[in-house]
Amino acid sequence: MKQPYERPTLRKLTGGLPGKFGPRAGAPAVETLDGVRVAELVAQFGSPLFIISERQLRRSYQAVQRAFATRYPAVQLAWSYKTNYLNAVCRTFHQEGAWAEVVSGMELEKALLNGVPGPHILFNGPGKRRADLERACEVDAVIHLDNADELHLLLAVAEGRAPRPRVALRVNLDAGLHPQWDRFGFNLENGEAWQALGRVVASGQLELVGLHCHIGTYVLQPAAYATAAAKLAALALRCQRELHTLVHYLDLGGGFPSTNTLKGAYLPATDTVPGIDEYAEAITGALLAAGFAPDERPLLVLEAGRALVDDAGSLIGSVLANKRLADGRRATILDFGVNLLFTSFWYDHHISPARTFSDHTEPTVLYGPLCMNIDQLRASISLPLLAPGDQVVVHKVGAYNMSQWQQFINLRPNVVLLDQAGAVHLIRAAETLEYLQQLEQVPEHLR
Ligand SMILES: *Cc1c(COP(=O)(O)O)cnc(C)c1O
Repeated sequence: MKQPYERPTLRKLTGGLPGKFGPRAGAPAVETLDGVRVAELVAQFGSPLFIISERQLRRSYQAVQRAFATRYPAVQLAWSYKTNYLNAVCRTFHQEGAWAEVVSGMELEKALLNGVPGPHILFNGPGKRRADLERACEVDAVIHLDNADELHLLLAVAEGRAPRPRVALRVNLDAGLHPQWDRFGFNLENGEAWQALGRVVASGQLELVGLHCHIGTYVLQPAAYATAAAKLAALALRCQRELHTLVHYLDLGGGFPSTNTLKGAYLPATDTVPGIDEYAEAITGALLAAGFAPDERPLLVLEAGRALVDDAGSLIGSVLANKRLADGRRATILDFGVNLLFTSFWYDHHISPARTFSDHTEPTVLYGPLCMNIDQLRASISLPLLAPGDQVVVHKVGAYNMSQWQQFINLRPNVVLLDQAGAVHLIRAAETLEYLQQLEQVPEHLR
């Protein structure tokens, strides 16, 4: 009997065994970033300081693009704006070919200002206002419908508009993940999504162009994406058959992990997190097997955020003081806290000293400078005996910190981009008190 053909697969294995004494306790010093000396950066731009590596941005983008495009004929990445708002970052990805994925009217305007054409903006989010929908229609962005009330509002906005607003349906589905994200979009399994698709098509006022799902974030199971892709593809085929509507694209969202280590994980993420190729294999494998006619295969859209930008960001900070806690533990106070490093709530970041020390290390509690009990960066980390004025480098902080940072107790610091030729560019200046107070007004009787 003839054996069925199976596509060959290539899978990159990343090794990383602990040494004879287990994983090395202290991190080796990191004195340069992309060839630029940490000490020089601090001398010029102060501490704390965020650094973005343009080389790494492009490398990460190209790795994701390559993983999918070598397996499937039509692939488009859409950069998730909320993951990092800095225009220099967004524009680097747009230069690489990324569309924009936005979740508010503000983000929509930001993408337009960055030169992204309306049709290349995918408008997600559960909280779109009437004015946002009107603006999206005006610039011909694709609206990813989240709920039935939004659909009704859009139908009202669309009344008499030409061309018809283009929409995709956000679908939530059981991909085997727990907890299941069911608060965004229309549910697949209970029939809600199908009912909404019927309404969209029957209205005659909207053009259905895509189906979307975003199953979670830092998802460690490539198989969940295979399930999601297969279900979305089946839904698209049903649209074709029963609603006579060809769905142009399937958007599998983002959620791919970076190589940051989750809090409490036993092994570092570089050894345990599946590579992007495994996600690409899962998704494209499901799409290629779904039964589309070869010339009717939908465009595969991906909205990666974290996986594109996390590795490219670093944060340099300085030791302000050391102290002993009542129980004898060593504690170090740094000049940045959870105000700047929001992701320390769920990651154990890799932190290196910025100069060499002896091999002696001590378990240390890391605190930020905020006068708040929650401002603890790490419950315990092995570090050499850093003195006040010494610097540390926190690695892989590019995702979500520079959009969720807080203007709380301290102002936000400088952000610089290291370009591929080794030049340093200030891409966001440190805030000033004047900037902070710009929008405030003091009533006459309080002056
Ligand atoms: C936040 C978000 C993304 C990006 O998520 P990551 O986990 O950073 O990849 C993509 N799509 C939607 C709809 C999102 O809300």
